[in-house]
Amino acid sequence: KIQLLKANTEGDLSNDVSKHFSVIVDRDPAVQEARLKLPVCGEEQVIMEAIRNNTVVIICGETGSGKTTQVPQFLYEAGWSHPDSDNPGLIGVTQPRRVATVSMAKRVGHELNLSEDEVSYQIRYDATVSDKTRIKFMTDGVLLRELSQDLLLTKYSVLIIDEAHERNLNTDILIGVVSRVLKLRAQLSREDREKIQPLRVVIMSATLRVTDFTENKTLFATPPPVINVNARQFPVNTHFNRRTPEDHLSEAFKKVCKIHQKLPHGGILVFLTGQNEITQLCRQLRKKYPSLPANASKKAVADEKDGEALESQTEKIQPGKEDLENEDIDLGENQVQEDFDLETDSEDDDDLGFEEDEMEQVDDAPLHVLPLYSMLPTEAQLRVFEPPPEGSRLCVIATNVAETSVTIPGVRYVVDSGKAKERQFDMNTGVQSFQIGWTSKAAADQRAGRAGRTGPGHCYRLYSSAVFDNEFERFTKPEIQRMPIEGVVLNMKSMHIDNVINFPFPTPPPRDSLSKAEKMLGYLGAVNTTTKQITAFGETMSLFPITPRFAKMLTVGQQHECLAYVIAIVSALSVGDPFIQDYHLDENRPGDEEDSEDDLDQQELSNFHNESAIDKQKRKLVRKKYYQTQVKHSSLDPKSDIIKLLNVVGAYEYAGGSSEFCNDSFLRPRAMEDIRKLRRQLTNMVAANFPGVNVCVDPKMAPPSALQLKVLRQVMMTGLIDCVAMRQDVVDTEGGKGQRFKNASNVPYKLMWSDDVAYIHPSSILYGQEPPPILVYTELFKSTRTWLKGCTTVESKWLAKIGKSLCTFGRPLEYPKPTPIAGKPNERLCHVVPNFGPKGWPLPPLQ
Ligand code: ADP
Ligand code: MG
Repeated sequence: KIQLLKANTEGDLSNDVSKHFSVIVDRDPAVQEARLKLPVCGEEQVIMEAIRNNTVVIICGETGSGKTTQVPQFLYEAGWSHPDSDNPGLIGVTQPRRVATVSMAKRVGHELNLSEDEVSYQIRYDATVSDKTRIKFMTDGVLLRELSQDLLLTKYSVLIIDEAHERNLNTDILIGVVSRVLKLRAQLSREDREKIQPLRVVIMSATLRVTDFTENKTLFATPPPVINVNARQFPVNTHFNRRTPEDHLSEAFKKVCKIHQKLPHGGILVFLTGQNEITQLCRQLRKKYPSLPANASKKAVADEKDGEALESQTEKIQPGKEDLENEDIDLGENQVQEDFDLETDSEDDDDLGFEEDEMEQVDDAPLHVLPLYSMLPTEAQLRVFEPPPEGSRLCVIATNVAETSVTIPGVRYVVDSGKAKERQFDMNTGVQSFQIGWTSKAAADQRAGRAGRTGPGHCYRLYSSAVFDNEFERFTKPEIQRMPIEGVVLNMKSMHIDNVINFPFPTPPPRDSLSKAEKMLGYLGAVNTTTKQITAFGETMSLFPITPRFAKMLTVGQQHECLAYVIAIVSALSVGDPFIQDYHLDENRPGDEEDSEDDLDQQELSNFHNESAIDKQKRKLVRKKYYQTQVKHSSLDPKSDIIKLLNVVGAYEYAGGSSEFCNDSFLRPRAMEDIRKLRRQLTNMVAANFPGVNVCVDPKMAPPSALQLKVLRQVMMTGLIDCVAMRQDVVDTEGGKGQRFKNASNVPYKLMWSDDVAYIHPSSILYGQEPPPILVYTELFKSTRTWLKGCTTVESKWLAKIGKSLCTFGRPLEYPKPTPIAGKPNERLCHVVPNFGPKGWPLPPLQ
C-alpha cells in the first residue's frame, strides 16, 4: 500500500482531484447486501486512494470479484462525474464486447438506482447517452472513434479500460493511445492544463498476464501500481474426457443430460463457440426437458426469436470491423441430429467424478435452459442473472463471453467444449476467417473457475488431458500477433494514428513489418506517402473487413458495372483456393513435389490416400480432362487465374450451388459456401454504406463481357501493384543483352525489389502457355523454387498508369521498364480514386 501512495509522475497530478466529496446513493437493501459481499468492496479504500494518487492504476481480480460493476460506483460515490466536484467529467468504461457493455450499464444503473439517462451505454448501433449521463459504458471501438475527434479525452474525468487481459486489437490500441494522451496532457502548459480537467486511467484485468502493461517502458515510463483483489475461489474439480470426441456438440448434450439427471442441485454452464451451436443445443435440451413452466418458456423463446430477427437485420446493415469481431458469425457447421440415444453411450467418459451415494436421481426435474451470446437481445441476456424458476435447474449455454466478462450466479458445473471461434489470418494472403480451434490453457482454466464462484464445483472438459497438454497454447495470443500487419496499420490510420512506427503497442509487432506495411498502403493509395495520413480513398478501404489489397480492388471496382464481379473475386481470394489441386497428379507436368498436398483439406487428403491405384488413375484422368475443360472454359480470357476463379464462382451459382457440382468439378464445397457467404456480406456492406451504388444482389451473374474482363484485370492490378513480375529475358533483351528463352514452361521472372527469380506455378492457368512479358501475382510460394501463384497477365503500359510511382521512365534497365506511352497519360487513371457515389464513374478501359 505504501507503494500505491507514491505518486505516479506521468500525467497531470498537479491538478489535484477532490478528496472529500461524497454522493449519497439510495440503493435497494438487497443490492447493498449482495455487493458488500464482493471481494472488490473490501478494497474500496485502497483502490480509491490509488486512483487519486496515480494517473494510471491497474486492478487485477478474478472474474466475478466485482470490478466492472463496483469500481464505477466507488468513483460515482466519491463525487467523480458530479457537476459540483473538481472532476465533473464522465466516468467512462470500455468493454471489448457489446453484450457486456449493455448488460453492465444496466446492472450498474440498477445498483445505483439511477436511470438509463444517467448510467448509459453506447455501442455501434445503439446508445442511451444523454446530457445527464454520468457513467458511460461503451465498446472500445466506440471510444477509439471518439478519440479521433477529441484526442485529449476532455469529456472524461476517469477512464476505465476493462477486460484488458483479452488483448483484443482494439483494447491494445486503446491502451497505447491512452498512454499517449496522458503524455500529451502532461506536456501541456500549466495554463492550458488548467482549462481541462485531470484524467485518471484505470486498467482492469482478470488475473492473467499484466506484465505486458507494467513492464513496457514505452507504454508507461513509471510502472503503474497493480492492485490485486483476492477473490474467494472455491476448489473446482476438473475432469477430462478419456477420449476427445469429434463432435463436441453432441458430447456436450450428453454431458448436460447426465449432470442434470444424476448430480445434486447447482447451475450448469456450457461453453460452446457460437450462436449456431448454442441455439441447437438449447433446442435439443428443451425438447428433452420440456417441463419449464409454460409462461416462462414461451417468454424466453419469444425473446430469443427477437434475437434471430435482430440477427438477420444486422446482417443486412452489414457492419464493419467491429462486427466481424463478433463471435457469432455463422460458420454453418455442426449439423447434429436432434435426438441422441443415450443408451448407446460408450463406457468411456461416463464418470462424473462422484460417489454413488452423492448422486441423486433427479430425473425429469425441469431444466431452465438459457442461451448467452452477443446478438441476443438485452432482455434475453439479462435472464441469466435471474434465479431459475422454483425447483428447476439453471443451464446456460454460452460463448466465451461467460469466460471473463459476465459472471452467472449459482454455477456449480461447467461443461467446457475446449473450443473457441477465433478470427484467424492467413499470413501469406492476409485472408481473414473465423475458425473454430482449441482455446488456450489459461482460458480453459478461466472457464473451469466459473464453477467455483459460490461453492466447490466441477468442470467437465470434453477433451482428453493429452490434447490439453499438447495442443493447447499456454495463453491466447494477443490479437495483434495474429493479424496481418497491413490490416492493423490501415485500421490505425483510419483512427488517425499516423505514426505507427513509434506507437506504444503493449506487444509491438516487428518494426520493419510496420514500415513495410505502411509503404504498401502508400502504393495502394490508402496512405499519403509524405504525411503518412490516411487518404479519403484509404478511409473507404478501411470500411471493408478484408485485407487492404482486396479492399482496394473493391473500392475501384465499380467501373463498367464490374462491382459484382469484383465482389465475387475478392470473396474468392479472401476465402482461399477452392480447387482441389490436380497438377501434382499429372506426371507430364513437372510440378513441385513438395508442395503437392498442402492445399488439401485433411479430409480430402485421407480420402485421397485411401484410393486404390485404379481409382487414382481414373481420378487423374477425370481431373486432367477437367483441367483442360477449365482452360477451355476460361478461353474467353486465359490470361488470369483470378478470372478462372470468377468463372468457377459463376458456374457454381448457375449450378444452384450444389455439392454435386463441387464434386464433379473438384471444388471444395466448404470453400464455395464460404465464398458465397462473404459475397453476400460484402454486397450488403456496399449497399448499406454507399446508397447510390448499384450492386447486383442476385448471386447469379451474367458472364462478363470482353471489355469487362479487361477492366477486371486492371482492377486486380490496382490491388497487386507491388506484386509485379517481369520475364527475365524481356528485362535482359530490352536492356540490350541476354536471349529469349526457348522453353516456355521454364521462364524465370524477375521480381520487383528483389534479386530473386520466380517461376509460374504449375497450378496456374498461365503455365504451359506462352508466358506473358509481365504479370501480377497474389502469392509467392517458396519450395525448391520460388513459384508465382494466382497470376494475371497485365500490360506494361497499364503499369505506367496504375503504378506510376513505382516506375522509372527513360533510362534503360531500370526496373520495371514500361513501354513509353504515346500522348498525354490519362491523369484520371493514374490516380484511381474511390468512385462509389450516385453517379459512378465510367472510364474507358486502358488501351
Ligand atoms: P468482474 O468484473 O470482477 O468480473 P462483475 O462486476 O462483473 O465482476 O460481477 C460482480 C457480481 O455481480 C457477480 O457475482 C455477478 O454475478 C453479479 N452481476 C453482474 N451483473 C448482474 C446482473 N445483471 N444481475 C445480477 N447480478 C449481476
Ligand atoms: Mg468484469
